[in-house]
Amino acid sequence: MKFENKTALITGSARGIGKAIAERLASQGARIVISDVLMDAAEATVKELNDKGYEAFAIKADVSNADDVQALIKETVAKYQTLDIMVNNAGITRDTLMIRMSEKDWDLVLDINLKGAFLMTQATAKVMMKQRSGRIVNISSVVGQMGNAGQANYSASKAGLIGLTKSSARELASRGITVNAIAPGFIESEMTEKLPEEVRNEFMKATALKRFGKPEDIAAAVAFLVSDDASYITGQILAVNGGLLM
Ligand code: NAD
Repeated sequence: MKFENKTALITGSARGIGKAIAERLASQGARIVISDVLMDAAEATVKELNDKGYEAFAIKADVSNADDVQALIKETVAKYQTLDIMVNNAGITRDTLMIRMSEKDWDLVLDINLKGAFLMTQATAKVMMKQRSGRIVNISSVVGQMGNAGQANYSASKAGLIGLTKSSARELASRGITVNAIAPGFIESEMTEKLPEEVRNEFMKATALKRFGKPEDIAAAVAFLVSDDASYITGQILAVNGGLLM
C-alpha cells in the first residue's frame, strides 16, 4: 500500500488510460479524485472503485476552463486535505491532414491537451508547494516525439507537454515536487478504436514487440513515477511504446 494517505487526482479518468491509472493507484491505497467532462462514466468509475473498497469521488471539470480547474482543486483539497499526485491525462484528437485542418480544431486540441495541462499544473503546484511535496505526471505521446501525418494539432500539443514537463520540473524541484511525462505508443482505448484498419496495421508493423499496449501498461509506469522509488527522477519523458520509437 505505497500510496496510503495520499490523494491522487487524474484528469480524464472516467474511462480508458485515466481510469486504469485511477484503479492502479487506488489498489495501492490512494484516495482518488476522478475528474472528467463525462459525468455518467465518471460516476460509474467511482462506483466500481467504491465497490472494491477504494476511496474515490468524482468532480466534473473541463481542464481547458480555468474556473473549472480552480473549483476542482479547491474541492479536492476541501474533501481530502492534501493533493499528492496529479496526472494530466485528459486529451482529445481531431485528426485530419494539416493542409485541411480548421483553426477551430487546432485551438480545441491545443486548449484541452496543452493549455489544460498548464492550468492544472499551475493550480496543483500552488497546493503542492505549500506541502513541499508532490508528484505530477503528464501523459504525452510518441506522436509528440516523432510526428504523425494527420495529427499536426495533436502532435504539437503532445510535444508542447514535453516542454511544459521540463520547465515545470525545473521550477518546482526545490519544493520537493517532481514532474515527469510518459510518452505512450499505441494503446488500446476508445481513442484508438476509431482509427482506420490501415493506420492500426502500420503502427503494429512499426512496434517492435508486435502488440498494442494496454491502459494498464501506462498505469504501471505512472505508479512507478509517483512512488518513492522514483524520487530522484524529474523532468524525464518515459517511453512506454513497445519499441515503436527507440
Ligand atoms: P479516451 O478518449 O478513452 O480518454 C480520454 C478522457 O479524457 C475521456 O474520458 C474524456 O472524456 C476526457 N476528456 C476529454 N476532454 C476533456 C476535458 N476538456 N476535460 C476533462 N476531461 C476531458 O483516450 P485514452 O486513450 O484513454 O487517452 C488518455 C490520454 O492518453 C490522452 O491524453 C491521450 O492523448 C493519451 N495517449 C493515448 C494513446 C493511445 O494510444 N490511446 C497514446 C498516447 C497518448
